[in-house]
Amino acid sequence: MTQETDELTRAFPNVWCPNCGKVQPMKIAVMKANDRNDHDAADILCGECKFVVATLHAEPATQFA
Ligand SMILES: [Zn+2]
Repeated sequence: MTQETDELTRAFPNVWCPNCGKVQPMKIAVMKANDRNDHDAADILCGECKFVVATLHAEPATQFA
């Protein structure tokens, strides 16, 4: 987890979960780039029910090559 993400989750540790219908502790699951994904991605999950509230996508690595 990057320092920026760390600071962000410290400042905003919770997320609105539409599945639970209330604010819940946030979990972030980072998925590294692989054969199917050309860029890193991160799921923002509800800490209670694991509902994926949002998926964050990095810029494709090839853009910087
Ligand atoms: Zn939930």
